[in-house]
Amino acid sequence: MRYISTRGRAPSVSFADAVLAGLAPDGGLYVPETWPTFPDRDTFKRCVALGHYTFTAYEALNAFSGALWEASIVNEAYLGAKRPAPQWPLTVAPLVHEQSGTWILELFHGPSLAFKDIAMQLIGPLYEHLLSERNERLTVLCATSGDTGGAAVEALKNRERIDLFVLLPKGRVSDVQRRFMTTSGAANVHTLELDADFDACQAILKQLFADRDFADRARLSAVNSVNWARITAQCVYFHIASQILCAHGPVSFVVPTGNFGDALSGFVAKQMGAPIGRIGVAVNANDIVARALHTGRYERAPASHATLSPAMDIQVPSNFERILFEALDRDADHLSRLYDQFAQSGAFDIPADALAFLRDHFDAASVSDADTRAIMQETWEYGGYLACPHTAVAMGFGRDGQAHLDAPVVTLATAHPAKFPDTVEAATGLRPPLPPKCADLFAREEKFDALPADIELVKAIIRDRSRAWT
Ligand SMILES: *Cc1c(COP(=O)(O)O)cnc(C)c1O
Repeated sequence: MRYISTRGRAPSVSFADAVLAGLAPDGGLYVPETWPTFPDRDTFKRCVALGHYTFTAYEALNAFSGALWEASIVNEAYLGAKRPAPQWPLTVAPLVHEQSGTWILELFHGPSLAFKDIAMQLIGPLYEHLLSERNERLTVLCATSGDTGGAAVEALKNRERIDLFVLLPKGRVSDVQRRFMTTSGAANVHTLELDADFDACQAILKQLFADRDFADRARLSAVNSVNWARITAQCVYFHIASQILCAHGPVSFVVPTGNFGDALSGFVAKQMGAPIGRIGVAVNANDIVARALHTGRYERAPASHATLSPAMDIQVPSNFERILFEALDRDADHLSRLYDQFAQSGAFDIPADALAFLRDHFDAASVSDADTRAIMQETWEYGGYLACPHTAVAMGFGRDGQAHLDAPVVTLATAHPAKFPDTVEAATGLRPPLPPKCADLFAREEKFDALPADIELVKAIIRDRSRAWT
């Protein structure tokens, strides 16, 4: 299986090279040249019946890499290196029945209590395997809106061949989120708190990659949701949940959306044959995707809004580029022209055919902070379910008639409520306790560097500390 860039100006690469690089050298994102198919429905039913999350993940990894992997990679990711002590509950992604026709898919049972663990836990052993095969080291860079950083730290801490640098936007993440990034005590983890919002952190990350000399000497790799390994890992739970619930037809999903990585993963599962209907893209006040789908104009707002769901405070979702590539029938030149225009003027009009394609597969709605709070409160009071603010945004999808999906509908729950205790307590009166595995989080010592959003300072730190630098 080869991977091509959405901008069409980089050579095609293998799965291993695509995931180790993260971003393509022409500034585009890697996508598979063709869509793989997945095991037939009967095989699937058997795996699902047996609760074999790891088997399905293993099949997905093989489908996208075109190679046979050691099953131990997937087992280490989801069952823990020291079996039989399980790292995850019985299933990685439990499906909870909410009410008639609606379900909640809980993706927050990993080590840092956010859905990003599911992909990152796979990236850890995957990178280790690829790097030792090649006898190489890597500098992994990660710009985070709050949860990627913690998941990356948990997955990559103390890994022999990797130095991890996390760019964290100051004051934009919860204390629990920050502590997952600053308390690992691992010598190979370097958390940099920048005086900037997430978009500025992401812009610095992109500039570091654009400096080819620097990127090559540091052996840079990104584990942001642009990394194809994350999409590979995330399409697994869409496959499983849709196969479980599809007895009477396709299954709809609602995805709380920031960088569009999870929403794209749902689309990818559908391309591979999963029985998925439309995917609801739920956003907060940072609503570029909802505006684009409703008006046909993709236009950045003057500034990002700080909301109750900070992991989704993203103005320009990177993975939208991948879905637009599909919507443009994979015309890389056309896509490049639109993105050049976006870089200059901050907007472009989505061509009519592409817009029709997007509306076919997705619907979108924006949910305000006031509604998010009300939903957390009602869900707790009437349903006895504590939702994190991101999950609440997704639960608010379609409430005001902006959008509609056919049942059954699966809402993705992307973070544990204890990750946002202040917001959850303000809405429900209940302060959710941290689960036992991380109950000592506030007793651990923090270590990080605070600096202005200056790319030269970030470069100097990487040059100084990365063991991959040559
Ligand atoms: C990252 C994140 C999201 C958004 O996911 P994308 O793949 O970036 O769209 C939603 N909720 C939580 C809790 C997150 O951490």
